[in-house]
Amino acid sequence: MSHLFYQTSAFRPFLDRGEGVYMYGKDGTRYLDGSSGAMVSNIGHSNPAVLAAMRAQMEKSTFGYRLHFQTEASEALAARTAALCPPGLDRVFFVSGGSEATESTIKLARQYKLAIDQSSRWKVISRMPSYHGSTLGALAITGYDPLTRPFEPMMQAMPKIPAPRAYLDGLNPDDPATGLHYADMLEAKILEEGPETVLAFIVEPIGGASTGALVPPAGYMERIREICTHYDILLIHDEVMTGGGRTGRFWGADHWGTTPDIIAISKGFGGGYVPLGAMIARRDMVEAVMADGGFQHGHTYAGNPLACSAGLAVLDQIEQNGLIDNAARMGDLLKSRLTGLMNRYPFIGDVRGKGLLLAFELVADRTTMEPLPTSMKAFQRLVDIAYERGLIIYSRRTRGGTSGDHFLVCPPMIVTEDQIDELMTKLTASLDTFAAETRLGAEPVA
Ligand code: PLP
Repeated sequence: MSHLFYQTSAFRPFLDRGEGVYMYGKDGTRYLDGSSGAMVSNIGHSNPAVLAAMRAQMEKSTFGYRLHFQTEASEALAARTAALCPPGLDRVFFVSGGSEATESTIKLARQYKLAIDQSSRWKVISRMPSYHGSTLGALAITGYDPLTRPFEPMMQAMPKIPAPRAYLDGLNPDDPATGLHYADMLEAKILEEGPETVLAFIVEPIGGASTGALVPPAGYMERIREICTHYDILLIHDEVMTGGGRTGRFWGADHWGTTPDIIAISKGFGGGYVPLGAMIARRDMVEAVMADGGFQHGHTYAGNPLACSAGLAVLDQIEQNGLIDNAARMGDLLKSRLTGLMNRYPFIGDVRGKGLLLAFELVADRTTMEPLPTSMKAFQRLVDIAYERGLIIYSRRTRGGTSGDHFLVCPPMIVTEDQIDELMTKLTASLDTFAAETRLGAEPVA
């Protein structure tokens, strides 16, 4: 019996080791990590250069409390991170994960508005569905009922607007009118709440697990920036999953060239080598907060030298091996291969995403996008079948009744063409079994 109580739908193997895009169970079974864990292991497993950098740091010190010592690793990583950000955003606050990062953005935003005498602003608008983390503050801005409902009396649930799921609403995502249509919902919500009460709007530039790699429609990112500026509302980009190159650009928002006021990053930032995240904010905001008594926030492990040395080595690997370009190229290839599956499986309703942040969604009817029945538990079953074939993918059922089961296919950014072939062979075999089991049917291969 295990004393742990993590939730999985089925027995999971004991992990022995990871190497590149593969993970090995204790029994020797090899798994292709088709989701980089939870979209974390961006540069693959057991990278020798990262391990060497961590070992070198460990020989010197594994921990130096940030209020007792400055460290070369944290200074260097802060400088490297700031240099990757849009102009004006160059103040970095390290944390140990994504929820800590998004919580930190909310607290900094609030303290900034207090410092500039806008104390009436406290509401953070976010989207439904969305995921910004599991701690109570991050949950308050998360739009995902199964996670938030049990805790609603304990937190201040924040206003939500619909995520721009054009594919469900029958709208053309390439038409700028679609982007405006969804962005207008932000303005309407701000007016409904009272602009003077709204602190910030938080958005995942490309959706993560909650929406399944949702790419915003044309014009959306630009228009929400304009709206936030107009109403003096801070724009927070939650790049916890998209930051670090997975989408084919370092930041997800780089696809649109829009600049937020605060950014949160984690996951691929530590690359699965160590818990690491950061918030990066506008310099003038941080200066105002510091002049007003300082930022009332901090986590014990924040910015420890071991984590920062790993973060630096991960960035080196990304840059030295051209992994962002590889993510863009391999992402295009993988997306076209996934899209091709729609010819064979009528129950694949949509394929979406950018770079190596890709997803497909299963539905009962592609024309109406009616979801598969909840009782089918497709989001669990297909993952289990894929496991049996040595492939790991990541799934979610968004919300009963409004959207289907979606599956994230996000291999590490080091993935090669041959490994994409292998991934597709395993995925096709898994979908065939799923189609046969559920009697949903598949067209024979031509
Ligand atoms: N924000 C986004 C967009 C995420 O995808 C996640 C995790 O999946 C989080 C925040 C929370 O990160 P963590 O699980 O590291 O706390």
